[in-house]
Amino acid sequence: GVMSPEEKPEEEMEAHLSLRPTRLQEYVGQSETVETLEIAITAAQKRGEPLEHVLLHGPPGLGKTTLAHIIANEMAGRLTLTSGPALEKAGDLVGILTHLADGDLLFIDEIHRLPRTVEEFLYSAMEDFAIDFVFDKGVHARSHRYRLNRFVLVGATTRVGLLSAPLRDRFGIFRSLDFYNEADLVRIALRSATLLGIPVLREGAEMLAKRSRGTPRIVNRLLKRVRDYAEVRGDGKIRAVTVHEALALEGIDAMGLTPLDRRYLRTILDFYAGGPVGIEAIAATLQEESDTLVDVVEPYLLKTGFVIRTSAGRRLGAPAYAHLGLGEPC
Ligand code: ATP
Repeated sequence: GVMSPEEKPEEEMEAHLSLRPTRLQEYVGQSETVETLEIAITAAQKRGEPLEHVLLHGPPGLGKTTLAHIIANEMAGRLTLTSGPALEKAGDLVGILTHLADGDLLFIDEIHRLPRTVEEFLYSAMEDFAIDFVFDKGVHARSHRYRLNRFVLVGATTRVGLLSAPLRDRFGIFRSLDFYNEADLVRIALRSATLLGIPVLREGAEMLAKRSRGTPRIVNRLLKRVRDYAEVRGDGKIRAVTVHEALALEGIDAMGLTPLDRRYLRTILDFYAGGPVGIEAIAATLQEESDTLVDVVEPYLLKTGFVIRTSAGRRLGAPAYAHLGLGEPC
């Protein structure tokens, strides 16, 4: 499935931290989300109340974790990071909740993968800042209410449809992050290059932006690959030609599609005559997890029209035929 923060390589995490904007003002793009949060944070501070719980939805790498860090910064609260799959037992969650101080933030990545038994403890924690422990069963059942400090939950999910209604309804603020446009990705590339001291030409930043699948995390990762290439094979500067050559080595094409993206498209074309075909069949043929395809591969291909979802399954769109150098079937 999707990588949770604790599965990200240590080195990568560190590199990300230094590139991470720390204030809402520095956060590039997603202007409506930024404005919503700015207003909610300012209003909460004026009233001296904790921020309402925030649910962030969107494909991986769009800056949900970054936003959680920023909210914590703006609210001057401490941030605890965890993920749905990491909270296996109710005790795991209760242990974290009881250690939160007033105004602290808890970030739960992949919140749609929270086990049901754990999720149920979250309801009263979110709503009443309390946990109800039930002892014994039947007529002897008694419950004890444990008070929590007023924390803020920030949940992140790639699949909001998998969240139960009771959980979804307890978030006061819900925002979907969309893929970034090229202008925003150019700004992110230039910003990261400045922070890392990489000499980059505008044409280089523009080409990086075009080939990063609308995703800041990918821009930053590719920037580092291109830097290596420029230092070893070029003059150290990031030019359009350097980006083109370096990314060809990474298997990234002119549209920014990865080898897995192309294998996915070719599978629909070669094995299923262009579709429609169900996701499980594609996953089986590709020998990939269907979750990976749905969470990581498909969102960008759907956004760009390479793939179209119908009630009968996935089929290739016109851009896919053009990109694979084929005519569209009649
Ligand atoms: P996931 O969804 O998998 O939790 P994410 O979407 O939260 O990941 P991050 O890890 O927060 O993605 O972001 C990846 C990197 O992209 C960050 O380290 C940061 O440098 C950069 N980044 C993300 N969003 C922005 C932004 N809006 N402006 C500038 N840089 C950004």
